[in-house]
Amino acid sequence: MPIVQLDEHLIDQIAAGEVVERPASVVKELVENAIDAGATRIEIATAGGGKTLLRVTDDGCGIPEGELLLAVRRHCTSKLSGGLEEIATLGFRGEALPSIGSVARLSLRSRAAGAGEAFEIAVDHGHCDGPRPTALSRGTVVEVRDLFHSVPARLKFLKSERAESSAITDVVRRLALAEPEVRFEISGPDRTATVFEAARDMAERIAQVVGGDFTGNAVAIDAAREDIRLSGLAGLPTYSRGNSLQQFLFVNGRPVRDKMLVSALRGGYADVMAKDRHPVAVLFITLDPALVDVNVHPAKADVRFRDPGLVRGLIVGALRQAFAEAGLRSSSEGTAGILARMRAKAGEVTPAPRRFEGFAPGGFAAPRQTPFDAGASPYRPLAPRSETATLERGTAASDAGFRPNGLDEDAVTYEAGAASPVIATSGETQPAEDFPLGAARAQLHGNYIVAETDKGLVIVDQHAAHERLVYEALKEALHGKALASQMLLIPEIVDLSADDAERLAENAADLAALGLHLERFGPAAIAVRETPAILGQTDIQKLVRDLADELAEFGTKDSVKSRIDHVAATIACHGSVRSGRVLKLDEMNALLREMERTPSASQCNHGRPTFIELGLADIEKLFGRR
Ligand code: ADP
Ligand code: MG
Repeated sequence: MPIVQLDEHLIDQIAAGEVVERPASVVKELVENAIDAGATRIEIATAGGGKTLLRVTDDGCGIPEGELLLAVRRHCTSKLSGGLEEIATLGFRGEALPSIGSVARLSLRSRAAGAGEAFEIAVDHGHCDGPRPTALSRGTVVEVRDLFHSVPARLKFLKSERAESSAITDVVRRLALAEPEVRFEISGPDRTATVFEAARDMAERIAQVVGGDFTGNAVAIDAAREDIRLSGLAGLPTYSRGNSLQQFLFVNGRPVRDKMLVSALRGGYADVMAKDRHPVAVLFITLDPALVDVNVHPAKADVRFRDPGLVRGLIVGALRQAFAEAGLRSSSEGTAGILARMRAKAGEVTPAPRRFEGFAPGGFAAPRQTPFDAGASPYRPLAPRSETATLERGTAASDAGFRPNGLDEDAVTYEAGAASPVIATSGETQPAEDFPLGAARAQLHGNYIVAETDKGLVIVDQHAAHERLVYEALKEALHGKALASQMLLIPEIVDLSADDAERLAENAADLAALGLHLERFGPAAIAVRETPAILGQTDIQKLVRDLADELAEFGTKDSVKSRIDHVAATIACHGSVRSGRVLKLDEMNALLREMERTPSASQCNHGRPTFIELGLADIEKLFGRR
């Protein structure tokens, strides 16, 4: 076949593949056009997840009659007066309307500012009709019907109505954050209506879009390097989420989903947040438009900085500094070194065997050999461990005058609130050498169980350990063993977005199998009636929100089984033995024994260790004795 020039309709359809991927990308283009037109009120109406209808109404400058047909012609734009170097608008390629018009039925009604009349054109899969007079008091109304009906290959790749509809909401939220003074309203038969009233300032808009909880749990960021400025709010590391849907990044007011920026955000949280958690943040980068290229991709979500390293450094540095100032980073160089040593040891610990009976005393730690094990040590115990412990601790306590008032020699535990340590003062508890994880001796900071083994000591993160145990129990429950639930006296109501409430309600049966009984409570709330008994007292609000995040992320793309696994992991994370809970000595020992019985108990379900082990030789080395 000879070389021929493609006809214009075909060119538009090909380009549409890049600009218009799904209904949400159409909404993005139309709302961006409204913003570029200087609108102060933008209304978005959708039906069928945007597959049947999308309508964007604005009160912007409008399009003159004579330009309506140009607006739907490829490469026609009113926005590129300054060339590609100086793009101050969201659009500039002149591709959106022609692309949309080639894969849908498009109508454009507009009344240009100052014009006495409004005009309308229609585009049906590339065929234009009009302009003809119509009634409209101001601004522009763009209507898109039957998106992709003529392109079955595309239609096939669209997700469920609900998934498309929530993708549209997400796009609108991002653009609403970029334009706090604009009023946004989104409604339709496929959703609950949402309105973001015109906000006084960015803080108010952030509270409207991301939530008042977030603004109360975030630090303000305002930093600059050379001429690049970073501002916004970064959530405290403790206010993390199960997915990255709550990260809003902007470059010169344009919402972006740039890999480099996302990774820089992660970098800023690197040593204050667990790897599997995601920060919540709204961050704006402002710089000379000549220093950034937004023309990398037709959808304009990626950007290319002239100096990416500088931008990355700015983000990571500003976040770290903000957290340091907020007093969140406590680790000094000295403890970091010790921790590094202890962490290294944690990696070598052999997971506990499934059943522990029949294991030789001391056998657990025996395979671990360090160079320090060889030879005699001044600290090598001569007496059985339990007696040594009594002796040493008793002596230390009386010598230093540490013994708590009124506590007699035989008392087993000393319990004085979450902040104080629980200390075993007597050796009549379990002998250390009988168990791989040793005998519990103390609980520190309400979360760390210190146990004595025949080779050294073990520190257990009780929250992580309990989480693992709960996870295993939940997994068993999934194999048919019913899990007990605990009825709440008063159902707890959790306010959520309509999408989240819907997703939770849809998964109610699976959640009930795990002991979590909930039901829909109005359009945007969930009522929780029973919780898994194994969790004890738990923060139900947080649990339900985390589950909603989990379902939002895994809802459509994962198999039922892996989705349920994730749900189980999320529930497990809410176990009752969270840090802060004071445990009695026999509770601690019970936890240790349970860990020994449970497969892969040495890691919590996020892959973090549940305990670390420190050999006596290592301790001696820390004290410069070796
Ligand atoms: P671009 O936004 O890249 O210029 P579009 O295809 O999205 O390309 O729009 C083409 C042109 O149509 C715009 O440059 C603008 O002049 C006009 N236009 C589109 N939507 C609107 C609107 N809502 N209000 C005013 N003018 C609009
Ligand atoms: Mg545009």
